Amino acid sequence: MMLMEEMTWTQIEVGLEKSRTVILPVGATEEHGPHLPTFTDTIQALEVAKEVARRRPIFVAPPVHYGVCRSTRGFPGTISISPQALRTLVFDLLCAFRDSGFERVLVLTGHAGGQHLAALKEAAERAVASRDLRVSLVSDFDLIDSSEVETPGDGHAGEIETSRMLVIREDLVGGLPEKHFPSRPRYLVMKDVRHLMGNGIMGDPSKATKEKGKKFMEISVLGVLEAVEELESYPSP
Ligand SMILES: [Zn+2]
Repeated sequence: MMLMEEMTWTQIEVGLEKSRTVILPVGATEEHGPHLPTFTDTIQALEVAKEVARRRPIFVAPPVHYGVCRSTRGFPGTISISPQALRTLVFDLLCAFRDSGFERVLVLTGHAGGQHLAALKEAAERAVASRDLRVSLVSDFDLIDSSEVETPGDGHAGEIETSRMLVIREDLVGGLPEKHFPSRPRYLVMKDVRHLMGNGIMGDPSKATKEKGKKFMEISVLGVLEAVEELESYPSP
């Protein structure tokens, strides 16, 4: 597996003969309820990327551990950066991959906040406008179709993420709490929503199982493999 952070530059040079595509996992450092660790989004994206790299020659870059978190701000452990900071960081990384010999980057985000995704999209658009580079943007969480999930509207730290963490790091799953769906204003723009978020869960972790986790993982891996096929089917820039 071509895990960049464990490779020497000479190994990377040889690897580039096999593939000029790299997956950049992007996560967040964010509360995930009282039962999941703050690197839940990052580790999910990283594990999917690694599994893809076991199945075909492709590089996996060191992940970005910070993202833009809005609704969970105010919780201890949510360490958010601004959309501008994420956009600039990811733009710089995309350009640096090109300068290092890569021709294609698949940005795989494990965090799916609206402003976070928008910042990644802008970074990708700017990078392809300024470099001979192909970029795809995939949201890991959004690959899981709702028909595969028992809990309607399951989201943050719920059935899906808890199931997946049971597979990835069971030792860090602190139980399976009851379902929790905070109600927030639909239109109102608020300074602070912490008091409306309860324990930070937005879904039903009590429905989580390891079997579901394996299924969600496989759906996600297949989705990313499809995105890689698409990315690599376009001729080199
Ligand atoms: Zn998450």
